Amino acid sequence: MPEYPDIYILARSMNQALHGLTIADAQVNQPKCVNLPPEGFRQAVVGRTFREVGQRGKWALATLDGGYTLALNLGMGGEVRLHRADETPDPTRERVVFRLSDGTQLWIHFWWFGSVHVVPPGQLNTHPQIGKLGADPMAEDFTPQRLAEMLKGRRGAIKKYLLDQSFIAGIGNVYVQDILWHARLHPLLPAHTLDTADVERLHGAIRRVLEEGIRWGGGPGEQDIWGNKGTYHEHLQVGYRTGKPCPACGTPVEELRVGSTTSYICPHCQV
Ligand SMILES: [Zn+2]
Repeated sequence: MPEYPDIYILARSMNQALHGLTIADAQVNQPKCVNLPPEGFRQAVVGRTFREVGQRGKWALATLDGGYTLALNLGMGGEVRLHRADETPDPTRERVVFRLSDGTQLWIHFWWFGSVHVVPPGQLNTHPQIGKLGADPMAEDFTPQRLAEMLKGRRGAIKKYLLDQSFIAGIGNVYVQDILWHARLHPLLPAHTLDTADVERLHGAIRRVLEEGIRWGGGPGEQDIWGNKGTYHEHLQVGYRTGKPCPACGTPVEELRVGSTTSYICPHCQV
């Protein structure tokens, strides 16, 4: 499932490829992934031109003219791909197909759940999912002080809050592993027990790992609009490296299963 860096890469590539192009037609092949009846969805987007493409957490947000937003959530195994004019989409695979003013096509595929929503002007903050998203971890106002405030009195495990999209938007079970390792924090530490130095290390680790993810083009399962894959997996420190030596101390990385998610930790560095 794509996380902040993966969506950053996708949104940046969408911005480069789509900016200034107009939606000439839209074909909805899976009505449940759009937020209007298919014909209403088509009418809402056809004739609109792509402006800036940005993100909120795991959502790519393409601004269209007139203040509308095309909001994409890829769920699992989702792809947003540019295709040539002469290619023919398989309607059982491509959930939504946009034909663009230069003849190219934008195909949106989900393997498992995903959303293609059109949001009218001024309604992003009341959108049922986007409106509930928490702090943007790369925003200027996400400071160590703010993170400390957010964690105050929280008695649950620190990892739980990092993965909670209404708390911080965009971190998932891939990038969280190295965030906790760089911060030298055990995933099950109660959040309220972190002291000022812990929170500062955690804040720095969030920024560092998300920036690394962006630098390496995101994860291997994720792709930009042209299909380029990321290589972040080649740069993981402890994530998904059970039995391999911790890069800091050499202790073998251990796997820790809690609930439905697995954590990868150095039992020496993360206490
Ligand atoms: Zn270690």
